[in-house]
Amino acid sequence: MKNPAPAGRVPTDPDLLPLPAWAARHRGEHRQRFLKAADLLAGAAAEVLALALPVECVCCGREDLAICAGCERRLRLLTRYPFRAESAAPALMDTDGSILLPVVAAGIYREELAQSVLAFKRHGQGQLRAVLANALGRAIAAVAAGDRGIVLVPVPSSNSAYRKRGFSPVHLLLAQALRSSSLDGISCQDTLRKVRITGVPGTLAGGQKGLGRGDRARRVRGSMRAVRRRSKGGLLGCPCIIVDDVLTTGATLAEAARAVHQAGGIVRGAVVLAATRAPDAPPSPT
Ligand SMILES: [Zn+2]
Repeated sequence: MKNPAPAGRVPTDPDLLPLPAWAARHRGEHRQRFLKAADLLAGAAAEVLALALPVECVCCGREDLAICAGCERRLRLLTRYPFRAESAAPALMDTDGSILLPVVAAGIYREELAQSVLAFKRHGQGQLRAVLANALGRAIAAVAAGDRGIVLVPVPSSNSAYRKRGFSPVHLLLAQALRSSSLDGISCQDTLRKVRITGVPGTLAGGQKGLGRGDRARRVRGSMRAVRRRSKGGLLGCPCIIVDDVLTTGATLAEAARAVHQAGGIVRGAVVLAATRAPDAPPSPT
C-alpha cells in the first residue's frame, strides 16, 4: 500500500478506531466514579462538579486543565495556517485530477490537534471546545473571506455515535465558533440528517474500517438528506459551506455536498478542523 499510516499516530478514520491510551488517561479511577455519579445530574450541574475535580492535560498528562498552556500553544501553532486539503482525499478528486469539492482544513490531524480532537469527541470538555472552536472559526473565516451570505451546514453525527456520546462534536464546535466576531453575519442551517440506506451489502452493520475507496463511497452514497425547516427558507439558492471535524477519504463530505446540492444549495466547499494527511505529504516516519 502506498504511504501506509502508522498505527496509533495517524488513524485512517478516528471515529472507527479504538482510542489510543493517551486519549483516555486524563481521568483517574476516582474521577470516573465521580463522573458516573455526575451523569445523574443535569448538564450544568455536572459541569460544575467536573470543575472541582483534578484534571490532566489530554495531550501531555500534566495535572492542570483539560489542556495545559504549553499544549494549547502548540495546538494554536498547528492550526495557524488553514490549508487546502482536498487533494489528499480520494473521494474529493476526480480521476483526471480535477477537484470535486474544495476543502480547507484548520490543521493536520497529528500531535496536540489529534489528541485534543479525540478527547473532545469522547468527553466534550468545555476548555477543549473553546480552543478547537477558535481553530475551526479561523478556517471558516479564511473560506468565507468576508462573504456574509454564506450558510454553514454541519455534517450530522451518525445515530449510533450520537447515542454513545450524547452530543454532536461538530455542532458544539460550530455553535461556539459562530459566537466569534470574525464570523459575524454568517449563519448556520442544521438541515442535514442521516438516512438509513438499504440495498448495499453491509450498509447497516459494522463500520468502514478496512474498506477501500470505492466501498466507502458506495456505503455513504444516499446516506444523508437535507430537511426543510419551516422557520428558515431552506438551502435553496444559498451559498453553502459544509463543516465537519476530521477529513479522511472525503466520502462523508462528498455525500453531504450531494445532499446540499439536491436541496438546492450552492456548495462552495467544505471546512474541517483537521485533515488526516497533508496534500502530497511524504510517507510519515514510523
Ligand atoms: Zn499538556
